[in-house]
Amino acid sequence: MAPRNFDLIVIGSGPGGYVAAIRAAQLGLNVVIVERESLGGICLNWGCIPTKAMLRSAEVYHLMHRAAEFGLSASGISYDLPAVIKRSRGVAKQLSSGIGHLMKKNKITVVMGVARITGKGAVSVTTDKGIEELTAVNIVLATGARARELPGLEADGELVWTYRHALVAKRMPKRLLVIGSGAIGIEFASFFNTLGTDTTVVEVLDRILPVEDAEVSAFARKAFLKQGMTIMEKATVKSLDRKPDGQGGGTVTAHIETGGKMQAIDFDTVISAVGIVGNTENLGLEEIGVKIDRAHVVTDEFCRTGVEGLYAIGDIVGAPWLAHKASHEGVMVAELIARHGHPHPIKPGSIAGCTYCHPQIASVGLTEEKALAVGFDIRVGRFPFIGNGKAIALGEAEGFVKTIFDKATGELIGAHMIGAEVTELIQGYIIGRTLETTEVELSETVFPHPTLSEMMHESVLDAYGRALHF
Ligand SMILES: Cc1cc2nc3c(=O)[nH]c(=O)nc-3n(C[C@H](O)[C@H](O)[C@H](O)COP(=O)(O)OP(=O)(O)OC[C@H]3O[C@@H](n4cnc5c(N)ncnc54)[C@H](O)[C@@H]3O)c2cc1C
Repeated sequence: MAPRNFDLIVIGSGPGGYVAAIRAAQLGLNVVIVERESLGGICLNWGCIPTKAMLRSAEVYHLMHRAAEFGLSASGISYDLPAVIKRSRGVAKQLSSGIGHLMKKNKITVVMGVARITGKGAVSVTTDKGIEELTAVNIVLATGARARELPGLEADGELVWTYRHALVAKRMPKRLLVIGSGAIGIEFASFFNTLGTDTTVVEVLDRILPVEDAEVSAFARKAFLKQGMTIMEKATVKSLDRKPDGQGGGTVTAHIETGGKMQAIDFDTVISAVGIVGNTENLGLEEIGVKIDRAHVVTDEFCRTGVEGLYAIGDIVGAPWLAHKASHEGVMVAELIARHGHPHPIKPGSIAGCTYCHPQIASVGLTEEKALAVGFDIRVGRFPFIGNGKAIALGEAEGFVKTIFDKATGELIGAHMIGAEVTELIQGYIIGRTLETTEVELSETVFPHPTLSEMMHESVLDAYGRALHF
Protein backbone atom coordinates (compact mmCIF):
# COMPACT_ATOMS: atom_id res chain seq x y z
CA MET A 1 0.00 0.00 0.00
CA ALA A 2 1.29 3.52 -0.79
CA PRO A 3 2.32 5.56 2.28
CA ARG A 4 -0.32 7.88 3.74
CA ASN A 5 0.95 11.45 3.88
CA PHE A 6 0.30 13.88 6.75
CA ASP A 7 1.67 17.25 7.93
CA LEU A 8 2.67 15.75 11.26
CA ILE A 9 3.20 12.25 12.70
CA VAL A 10 3.05 12.00 16.50
CA ILE A 11 4.41 8.78 18.01
CA GLY A 12 2.96 8.03 21.45
CA SER A 13 -0.35 9.26 22.84
CA GLY A 14 0.57 10.19 26.42
CA PRO A 15 0.02 13.79 27.60
CA GLY A 16 2.94 14.99 25.45
CA GLY A 17 1.77 13.25 22.29
CA TYR A 18 -1.98 13.80 22.43
CA VAL A 19 -1.63 17.45 23.40
CA ALA A 20 0.87 18.05 20.56
CA ALA A 21 -1.59 16.39 18.16
CA ILE A 22 -4.57 18.45 19.34
CA ARG A 23 -2.69 21.77 19.25
CA ALA A 24 -1.28 21.01 15.78
CA ALA A 25 -4.77 20.09 14.54
CA GLN A 26 -6.18 23.31 16.04
CA LEU A 27 -3.57 25.17 13.99
CA GLY A 28 -4.77 23.50 10.81
CA LEU A 29 -2.29 20.64 10.39
CA ASN A 30 -3.29 17.20 9.14
CA VAL A 31 -2.12 14.98 12.01
CA VAL A 32 -1.75 11.24 12.61
CA ILE A 33 -1.01 9.81 16.07
CA VAL A 34 0.41 6.31 16.54
CA GLU A 35 -0.08 4.39 19.77
CA ARG A 36 0.97 0.82 20.54
CA GLU A 37 -1.06 0.28 23.71
CA SER A 38 -3.77 2.62 25.05
CA LEU A 39 -4.65 6.20 24.20
CA GLY A 40 -3.55 8.54 26.98
CA GLY A 41 -0.20 6.81 27.59
CA ILE A 42 1.24 6.04 30.99
CA CYS A 43 -0.30 9.13 32.58
CA LEU A 44 -3.93 8.18 32.03
CA ASN A 45 -3.60 4.40 32.04
CA TRP A 46 -0.73 3.50 34.41
CA GLY A 47 0.45 6.68 36.13
CA CYS A 48 -1.04 9.94 37.33
CA ILE A 49 -4.72 9.08 37.11
CA PRO A 50 -5.14 5.47 38.35
CA THR A 51 -2.78 6.15 41.29
CA LYS A 52 -4.86 9.15 42.33
CA ALA A 53 -8.03 7.04 42.12
CA MET A 54 -6.45 4.46 44.44
CA LEU A 55 -5.13 7.12 46.81
CA ARG A 56 -8.63 8.60 46.99
CA SER A 57 -9.94 5.23 48.23
CA ALA A 58 -7.20 5.22 50.89
CA GLU A 59 -8.07 8.79 51.89
CA VAL A 60 -11.77 7.99 52.31
CA TYR A 61 -10.86 4.87 54.33
CA HIS A 62 -8.62 6.99 56.56
CA LEU A 63 -11.36 9.59 57.09
CA MET A 64 -13.91 6.89 57.90
CA HIS A 65 -11.64 5.77 60.73
CA ARG A 66 -11.68 9.33 62.01
CA ALA A 67 -15.50 9.56 61.93
CA ALA A 68 -15.83 10.02 65.71
CA GLU A 69 -13.66 13.17 65.57
CA PHE A 70 -16.35 14.76 63.43
CA GLY A 71 -19.24 13.62 65.62
CA LEU A 72 -20.08 10.76 63.28
CA SER A 73 -20.04 7.04 63.67
CA ALA A 74 -18.99 4.33 61.29
CA SER A 75 -18.65 0.67 62.07
CA GLY A 76 -17.45 -2.36 60.19
CA ILE A 77 -15.06 -0.23 58.14
CA SER A 78 -13.15 -2.38 55.69
CA TYR A 79 -11.91 -2.38 52.14
CA ASP A 80 -12.37 -4.58 49.11
CA LEU A 81 -9.11 -4.53 47.13
CA PRO A 82 -10.61 -5.83 43.85
CA ALA A 83 -13.29 -3.10 44.07
CA VAL A 84 -10.64 -0.41 44.75
CA ILE A 85 -8.65 -1.62 41.72
CA LYS A 86 -11.81 -1.87 39.60
CA ARG A 87 -12.68 1.75 40.35
CA SER A 88 -9.15 2.87 39.51
CA ARG A 89 -9.14 0.93 36.22
CA GLY A 90 -12.60 2.33 35.40
CA VAL A 91 -11.40 5.90 35.92
CA ALA A 92 -8.37 5.22 33.67
CA LYS A 93 -10.59 3.67 30.99
CA GLN A 94 -13.03 6.58 31.07
CA LEU A 95 -10.22 9.06 30.51
CA SER A 96 -8.51 6.96 27.84
CA SER A 97 -11.74 6.78 25.85
CA GLY A 98 -12.09 10.54 26.35
CA ILE A 99 -8.81 10.93 24.43
CA GLY A 100 -10.36 8.87 21.62
CA HIS A 101 -13.24 11.38 21.47
CA LEU A 102 -10.82 14.31 21.45
CA MET A 103 -8.91 12.75 18.54
CA LYS A 104 -12.18 12.36 16.59
CA LYS A 105 -13.35 15.88 17.45
CA ASN A 106 -10.05 17.34 16.17
CA LYS A 107 -10.05 15.10 13.06
CA ILE A 108 -6.77 13.46 14.08
CA THR A 109 -6.11 10.07 12.48
CA VAL A 110 -5.32 7.37 15.05
CA VAL A 111 -3.24 4.35 14.06
CA MET A 112 -2.91 1.62 16.71
CA GLY A 113 0.44 -0.13 16.32
CA VAL A 114 4.16 -0.02 16.98
CA ALA A 115 5.94 2.81 15.18
CA ARG A 116 9.49 2.87 13.88
CA ILE A 117 11.18 5.73 12.05
CA THR A 118 12.55 4.40 8.78
CA GLY A 119 14.01 7.58 7.32
CA LYS A 120 13.56 11.33 7.20
CA GLY A 121 9.83 11.97 7.64
CA ALA A 122 8.98 8.28 7.23
CA VAL A 123 7.41 6.01 9.83
CA SER A 124 6.49 2.37 9.53
CA VAL A 125 3.76 1.08 11.84
CA THR A 126 3.26 -2.58 12.67
CA THR A 127 -0.47 -3.00 13.25
CA ASP A 128 -2.71 -6.05 13.78
CA LYS A 129 -3.47 -5.96 10.08
CA GLY A 130 0.11 -5.59 8.82
CA ILE A 131 2.56 -2.80 8.11
CA GLU A 132 1.32 0.71 7.47
CA GLU A 133 3.68 3.36 6.05
CA LEU A 134 3.24 7.03 7.00
CA THR A 135 5.09 10.13 5.81
CA ALA A 136 5.19 13.73 7.01
CA VAL A 137 7.52 16.70 7.03
CA ASN A 138 7.58 16.67 10.84
CA ILE A 139 7.59 13.94 13.47
CA VAL A 140 7.06 14.36 17.20
CA LEU A 141 8.47 11.56 19.29
CA ALA A 142 6.55 11.14 22.56
CA THR A 143 7.12 7.49 23.45
CA GLY A 144 7.53 8.11 27.18
CA ALA A 145 9.32 5.87 29.63
CA ARG A 146 9.00 2.73 31.71
CA ALA A 147 10.14 1.61 35.17
CA ARG A 148 13.89 1.32 35.66
CA GLU A 149 14.96 -2.18 36.67
CA LEU A 150 18.09 -2.72 38.77
CA PRO A 151 20.06 -5.96 38.37
CA GLY A 152 18.87 -8.54 40.91
CA LEU A 153 15.84 -6.40 41.84
CA GLU A 154 13.91 -6.97 38.60
CA ALA A 155 10.14 -7.20 38.88
CA ASP A 156 8.50 -10.61 38.41
CA GLY A 157 4.90 -9.46 38.89
CA GLU A 158 4.30 -11.84 41.79
CA LEU A 159 6.66 -11.00 44.62
CA VAL A 160 8.44 -8.01 43.13
CA TRP A 161 6.27 -5.38 41.46
CA THR A 162 6.68 -2.25 39.40
CA TYR A 163 3.96 0.42 39.40
CA ARG A 164 2.15 -1.53 36.68
CA HIS A 165 1.76 -4.61 38.90
CA ALA A 166 0.87 -2.50 41.95
CA LEU A 167 -1.95 -0.80 40.02
CA VAL A 168 -3.62 -4.15 39.37
CA ALA A 169 -2.64 -5.83 42.65
CA LYS A 170 -4.39 -9.18 43.10
CA ARG A 171 -3.59 -9.42 46.79
CA MET A 172 -2.99 -7.02 49.64
CA PRO A 173 0.65 -7.07 50.76
CA LYS A 174 1.05 -7.77 54.49
CA ARG A 175 4.73 -6.78 54.68
CA LEU A 176 5.75 -4.42 51.92
CA LEU A 177 9.17 -3.10 50.97
CA VAL A 178 9.19 -0.02 48.73
CA ILE A 179 12.58 0.60 47.13
CA GLY A 180 12.98 4.29 46.33
CA SER A 181 11.33 7.30 47.96
CA GLY A 182 10.56 9.54 44.98
CA ALA A 183 6.94 10.51 44.29
CA ILE A 184 5.96 7.10 42.84
CA GLY A 185 7.46 5.05 45.69
CA ILE A 186 6.01 7.31 48.38
CA GLU A 187 2.51 7.34 46.83
CA PHE A 188 2.35 3.51 46.82
CA ALA A 189 3.85 3.37 50.33
CA SER A 190 1.17 5.82 51.49
CA PHE A 191 -1.66 3.89 49.80
CA PHE A 192 -0.74 0.47 51.19
CA ASN A 193 0.29 1.76 54.62
CA THR A 194 -3.04 3.59 55.01
CA LEU A 195 -4.89 0.36 54.25
CA GLY A 196 -2.95 -1.43 56.98
CA THR A 197 0.08 -2.94 55.23
CA ASP A 198 3.25 -3.04 57.33
CA THR A 199 5.32 -0.78 55.04
CA THR A 200 9.07 -0.14 54.86
CA VAL A 201 10.61 2.47 52.56
CA VAL A 202 14.30 2.20 51.67
CA GLU A 203 16.10 5.24 50.26
CA VAL A 204 19.73 5.22 49.18
CA LEU A 205 20.19 8.97 49.77
CA ASP A 206 20.26 10.60 53.18
CA ARG A 207 16.58 11.59 53.18
CA ILE A 208 13.28 10.53 51.70
CA LEU A 209 11.76 12.65 48.90
CA PRO A 210 15.28 13.87 48.11
CA VAL A 211 14.22 16.43 45.48
CA GLU A 212 12.03 18.27 47.99
CA ASP A 213 13.18 20.96 50.42
CA ALA A 214 14.96 19.32 53.39
CA GLU A 215 12.35 20.65 55.84
CA VAL A 216 9.57 19.03 53.82
CA SER A 217 11.45 15.70 53.74
CA ALA A 218 11.96 15.85 57.52
CA PHE A 219 8.29 16.70 58.16
CA ALA A 220 7.10 13.93 55.83
CA ARG A 221 9.44 11.44 57.53
CA LYS A 222 7.99 12.29 60.95
CA ALA A 223 4.40 12.05 59.64
CA PHE A 224 5.04 8.67 57.97
CA LEU A 225 6.73 7.26 61.10
CA LYS A 226 3.68 8.39 63.12
CA GLN A 227 1.50 6.51 60.62
CA GLY A 228 3.52 3.34 61.36
CA MET A 229 5.83 3.24 58.32
CA THR A 230 9.44 2.15 58.69
CA ILE A 231 11.91 4.42 56.90
CA MET A 232 15.48 3.39 56.14
CA GLU A 233 17.64 6.20 54.77
CA LYS A 234 21.23 5.90 53.44
CA ALA A 235 20.26 2.27 52.86
CA THR A 236 20.76 0.08 49.79
CA VAL A 237 18.88 -3.07 48.85
CA LYS A 238 21.72 -5.28 47.66
CA SER A 239 19.75 -8.38 46.68
CA LEU A 240 16.41 -10.11 46.98
CA ASP A 241 15.96 -13.84 47.72
CA ARG A 242 12.58 -14.86 46.35
CA LYS A 243 10.68 -17.86 47.69
CA PRO A 244 7.40 -18.07 45.78
CA ASP A 245 4.64 -20.23 47.27
CA GLY A 246 3.30 -21.20 43.85
CA GLN A 247 0.01 -19.35 44.48
CA GLY A 248 1.08 -15.83 43.54
CA GLY A 249 2.58 -15.07 46.97
CA GLY A 250 5.53 -16.11 49.09
CA THR A 251 8.46 -14.49 50.86
CA VAL A 252 11.20 -12.16 49.68
CA THR A 253 14.24 -11.75 51.89
CA ALA A 254 15.80 -8.34 51.23
CA HIS A 255 19.48 -7.91 52.00
CA ILE A 256 19.81 -4.26 52.96
CA GLU A 257 23.03 -2.42 53.70
CA THR A 258 22.95 0.57 56.07
CA GLY A 259 26.14 2.22 57.26
CA GLY A 260 28.26 -0.77 56.25
CA LYS A 261 26.02 -3.21 58.14
CA MET A 262 23.92 -5.88 56.36
CA GLN A 263 20.43 -6.83 57.48
CA ALA A 264 18.19 -9.55 56.06
CA ILE A 265 14.50 -8.63 56.35
CA ASP A 266 11.52 -10.70 55.15
CA PHE A 267 8.67 -9.18 53.15
CA ASP A 268 5.84 -10.69 51.13
CA THR A 269 5.94 -7.96 48.45
CA VAL A 270 8.48 -5.53 47.06
CA ILE A 271 7.68 -2.49 44.91
CA SER A 272 10.65 -1.28 42.94
CA ALA A 273 10.36 2.49 42.34
CA VAL A 274 13.92 3.40 41.43
CA GLY A 275 13.23 5.71 38.53
CA ILE A 276 12.46 5.45 34.85
CA VAL A 277 14.20 4.82 31.54
CA GLY A 278 13.11 6.38 28.27
CA ASN A 279 11.49 4.23 25.58
CA THR A 280 14.20 4.90 22.99
CA GLU A 281 14.71 1.37 21.66
CA ASN A 282 13.57 -0.07 18.33
CA LEU A 283 12.53 3.32 17.02
CA GLY A 284 15.33 3.59 14.47
CA LEU A 285 16.77 6.59 16.31
CA GLU A 286 20.47 5.72 16.20
CA GLU A 287 20.23 5.05 12.46
CA ILE A 288 19.08 8.61 11.76
CA GLY A 289 21.62 10.18 14.12
CA VAL A 290 19.52 11.01 17.20
CA LYS A 291 21.71 11.46 20.28
CA ILE A 292 20.75 9.41 23.33
CA ASP A 293 22.21 10.00 26.77
CA ARG A 294 21.47 7.55 29.62
CA ALA A 295 18.32 6.25 27.94
CA HIS A 296 16.86 9.68 27.15
CA VAL A 297 16.87 11.60 23.86
CA VAL A 298 19.05 14.72 23.87
CA THR A 299 17.28 17.86 22.60
CA ASP A 300 17.73 21.60 22.72
CA GLU A 301 15.38 23.82 24.76
CA PHE A 302 12.83 23.75 21.92
CA CYS A 303 12.76 19.92 21.94
CA ARG A 304 14.62 19.73 18.60
CA THR A 305 16.68 16.56 18.26
CA GLY A 306 19.19 17.93 15.76
CA VAL A 307 17.61 15.79 13.01
CA GLU A 308 15.60 18.11 10.78
CA GLY A 309 11.87 17.80 11.36
CA LEU A 310 12.21 15.47 14.37
CA TYR A 311 11.19 16.69 17.83
CA ALA A 312 11.15 14.75 21.13
CA ILE A 313 9.00 15.66 24.15
CA GLY A 314 7.92 14.34 27.55
CA ASP A 315 9.49 11.49 29.47
CA ILE A 316 11.64 10.33 26.56
CA VAL A 317 13.68 13.51 27.04
CA GLY A 318 15.09 15.16 30.17
CA ALA A 319 13.61 15.69 33.63
CA PRO A 320 11.33 16.71 35.22
CA TRP A 321 9.41 13.60 34.16
CA LEU A 322 5.95 14.96 34.75
CA ALA A 323 2.76 14.94 32.71
CA HIS A 324 2.27 18.72 32.76
CA LYS A 325 5.83 19.25 31.51
CA ALA A 326 5.14 16.76 28.67
CA SER A 327 1.90 18.45 27.65
CA HIS A 328 3.44 21.93 27.79
CA GLU A 329 6.22 20.72 25.50
CA GLY A 330 3.49 19.28 23.24
CA VAL A 331 1.91 22.71 22.81
CA MET A 332 5.30 24.33 22.25
CA VAL A 333 6.43 21.94 19.48
CA ALA A 334 3.04 22.04 17.75
CA GLU A 335 3.25 25.85 17.62
CA LEU A 336 6.85 25.71 16.39
CA ILE A 337 5.91 23.27 13.64
CA ALA A 338 2.85 25.28 12.62
CA ARG A 339 4.93 28.49 12.82
CA HIS A 340 2.38 30.00 15.20
CA GLY A 341 3.29 32.92 17.49
CA HIS A 342 6.50 32.91 19.48
CA PRO A 343 6.65 29.63 21.41
CA HIS A 344 8.75 29.81 24.58
CA PRO A 345 10.87 26.99 25.99
CA ILE A 346 9.89 25.48 29.32
CA LYS A 347 11.19 27.19 32.45
CA PRO A 348 12.03 24.25 34.73
CA GLY A 349 11.83 26.58 37.75
CA SER A 350 8.12 27.07 37.11
CA ILE A 351 7.22 23.38 36.84
CA ALA A 352 5.68 22.21 40.11
CA GLY A 353 6.14 18.74 41.54
CA CYS A 354 3.28 17.14 43.48
CA THR A 355 3.18 13.96 45.59
CA TYR A 356 -0.30 12.78 46.55
CA CYS A 357 0.64 10.93 49.73
CA HIS A 358 -0.86 11.71 53.13
CA PRO A 359 -0.01 14.49 53.93
CA GLN A 360 0.30 15.85 50.39
CA ILE A 361 3.46 17.56 49.15
CA ALA A 362 3.84 20.26 46.48
CA SER A 363 6.68 22.52 45.47
CA VAL A 364 7.90 24.88 42.78
CA GLY A 365 11.23 26.61 42.21
CA LEU A 366 14.37 26.39 44.31
CA THR A 367 14.75 24.63 47.64
CA GLU A 368 16.43 26.65 50.39
CA GLU A 369 19.58 24.55 50.01
CA LYS A 370 19.69 25.07 46.24
CA ALA A 371 18.95 28.81 46.48
CA LEU A 372 21.91 29.24 48.83
CA ALA A 373 24.12 26.98 46.71
CA VAL A 374 23.52 29.08 43.59
CA GLY A 375 24.41 32.22 45.53
CA PHE A 376 21.07 33.88 46.36
CA ASP A 377 20.81 35.99 49.46
CA ILE A 378 17.37 34.87 50.65
CA ARG A 379 14.47 35.60 52.93
CA VAL A 380 12.45 32.60 54.09
CA GLY A 381 8.88 32.57 55.34
CA ARG A 382 7.02 29.73 57.03
CA PHE A 383 3.46 29.26 58.17
CA PRO A 384 2.06 26.16 59.92
CA PHE A 385 -1.34 24.61 59.22
CA ILE A 386 -2.09 24.82 62.97
CA GLY A 387 -2.32 28.61 62.59
CA ASN A 388 -5.05 28.42 59.91
CA GLY A 389 -8.74 28.40 60.76
CA LYS A 390 -9.86 26.37 57.75
CA ALA A 391 -7.19 23.71 58.40
CA ILE A 392 -8.43 23.32 61.97
CA ALA A 393 -12.08 23.22 60.87
CA LEU A 394 -11.18 20.50 58.36
CA GLY A 395 -9.32 18.52 61.02
CA GLU A 396 -6.13 18.88 58.93
CA ALA A 397 -3.81 20.88 61.16
CA GLU A 398 -0.65 19.04 60.06
CA GLY A 399 1.78 20.73 57.67
CA PHE A 400 3.35 24.03 56.68
CA VAL A 401 3.92 26.43 53.82
CA LYS A 402 7.45 27.69 53.17
CA THR A 403 8.38 30.47 50.78
CA ILE A 404 11.79 31.61 49.60
CA PHE A 405 12.49 35.09 48.21
CA ASP A 406 15.49 36.70 46.57
CA LYS A 407 16.41 39.38 49.14
CA ALA A 408 17.75 41.69 46.43
CA THR A 409 14.66 41.80 44.21
CA GLY A 410 11.87 40.36 46.36
CA GLU A 411 11.14 37.73 43.67
CA LEU A 412 9.51 34.51 44.81
CA ILE A 413 12.12 31.87 43.91
CA GLY A 414 10.74 28.83 45.69
CA ALA A 415 7.63 27.54 47.47
CA HIS A 416 7.33 24.27 49.40
CA MET A 417 4.23 22.91 51.05
CA ILE A 418 3.19 19.83 52.94
CA GLY A 419 -0.34 19.25 54.21
CA ALA A 420 -3.95 18.83 53.10
CA GLU A 421 -4.78 19.89 49.52
CA VAL A 422 -1.39 21.52 48.84
CA THR A 423 -1.36 19.88 45.40
CA GLU A 424 -4.33 22.14 44.57
CA LEU A 425 -2.89 25.21 46.32
CA ILE A 426 0.48 25.22 44.55
CA GLN A 427 -0.94 26.66 41.34
CA GLY A 428 -1.21 30.05 43.09
CA TYR A 429 2.55 30.19 43.46
CA ILE A 430 3.07 28.81 39.93
CA ILE A 431 1.12 31.75 38.53
CA GLY A 432 3.26 33.98 40.74
CA ARG A 433 6.45 32.40 39.38
CA THR A 434 5.24 32.72 35.80
CA LEU A 435 4.50 36.41 36.34
CA GLU A 436 7.86 36.80 38.13
CA THR A 437 5.96 38.17 41.08
CA THR A 438 7.55 39.71 44.13
CA GLU A 439 6.68 39.78 47.81
CA VAL A 440 4.97 43.16 47.31
CA GLU A 441 2.23 41.85 45.00
CA LEU A 442 1.77 38.68 47.02
CA SER A 443 1.51 40.64 50.29
CA GLU A 444 -1.02 43.01 48.76
CA THR A 445 -3.19 40.23 47.35
CA VAL A 446 -6.40 39.68 49.31
CA PHE A 447 -6.89 35.95 50.00
CA PRO A 448 -10.41 34.69 50.75
CA HIS A 449 -11.30 33.63 54.28
CA PRO A 450 -11.51 30.98 55.54
CA THR A 451 -9.30 29.07 53.11
CA LEU A 452 -6.13 27.05 53.26
CA SER A 453 -4.75 29.55 50.75
CA GLU A 454 -4.48 32.15 53.52
CA MET A 455 -1.40 30.21 54.67
CA MET A 456 0.23 31.04 51.35
CA HIS A 457 -0.27 34.72 52.15
CA GLU A 458 0.94 34.35 55.74
CA SER A 459 4.09 32.54 54.64
CA VAL A 460 4.95 35.48 52.39
CA LEU A 461 4.24 37.94 55.23
CA ASP A 462 6.42 35.84 57.55
CA ALA A 463 9.39 36.12 55.18
CA TYR A 464 9.19 39.86 55.81
CA GLY A 465 8.47 39.62 59.57
CA ARG A 466 4.77 40.47 59.19
CA ALA A 467 2.83 37.20 59.75
CA LEU A 468 -0.49 38.04 61.37
CA HIS A 469 -1.79 34.76 62.76
CA PHE A 470 1.26 33.09 64.26
C1 LIG B 1 2.80 5.43 38.91
C2 LIG B 1 3.03 6.77 38.29
C3 LIG B 1 2.42 7.89 38.81
C4 LIG B 1 2.63 9.14 38.22
N1 LIG B 1 2.01 10.22 38.75
C5 LIG B 1 2.21 11.43 38.18
C6 LIG B 1 1.55 12.57 38.69
O1 LIG B 1 0.80 12.51 39.66
N2 LIG B 1 1.76 13.77 38.07
C7 LIG B 1 2.60 13.88 36.99
O2 LIG B 1 2.75 14.98 36.45
N3 LIG B 1 3.23 12.82 36.49
C8 LIG B 1 3.06 11.60 37.05
N4 LIG B 1 3.68 10.51 36.52
C9 LIG B 1 4.56 10.71 35.36
C10 LIG B 1 3.73 10.82 34.08
O3 LIG B 1 2.95 9.66 33.93
C11 LIG B 1 4.64 11.02 32.89
O4 LIG B 1 5.47 12.13 33.10
C12 LIG B 1 3.85 11.24 31.61
O5 LIG B 1 3.00 10.16 31.35
C13 LIG B 1 4.81 11.42 30.42
O6 LIG B 1 4.07 11.62 29.27
P1 LIG B 1 4.63 11.28 27.84
O7 LIG B 1 3.69 11.92 26.87
O8 LIG B 1 6.06 11.60 27.75
O9 LIG B 1 4.56 9.71 27.66
P2 LIG B 1 3.70 8.51 28.23
O10 LIG B 1 2.56 8.93 29.04
O11 LIG B 1 4.70 7.59 28.83
O12 LIG B 1 3.13 7.87 26.90
C14 LIG B 1 3.96 7.34 25.92
C15 LIG B 1 3.14 6.49 25.00
O13 LIG B 1 3.93 6.12 23.89
C16 LIG B 1 3.58 4.80 23.49
N5 LIG B 1 4.68 4.23 22.71
C17 LIG B 1 5.93 3.96 23.12
N6 LIG B 1 6.66 3.47 22.10
C18 LIG B 1 5.84 3.42 21.02
C19 LIG B 1 6.02 3.02 19.67
N7 LIG B 1 7.19 2.56 19.21
N8 LIG B 1 4.96 3.11 18.84
C20 LIG B 1 3.77 3.58 19.27
N9 LIG B 1 3.55 3.98 20.53
C21 LIG B 1 4.58 3.91 21.40
C22 LIG B 1 3.37 4.10 24.81
O14 LIG B 1 2.55 2.96 24.65
C23 LIG B 1 2.68 5.18 25.64
O15 LIG B 1 1.27 5.08 25.54
C24 LIG B 1 3.47 9.25 37.08
C25 LIG B 1 4.08 8.11 36.54
C26 LIG B 1 3.86 6.90 37.13
C27 LIG B 1 4.51 5.69 36.53
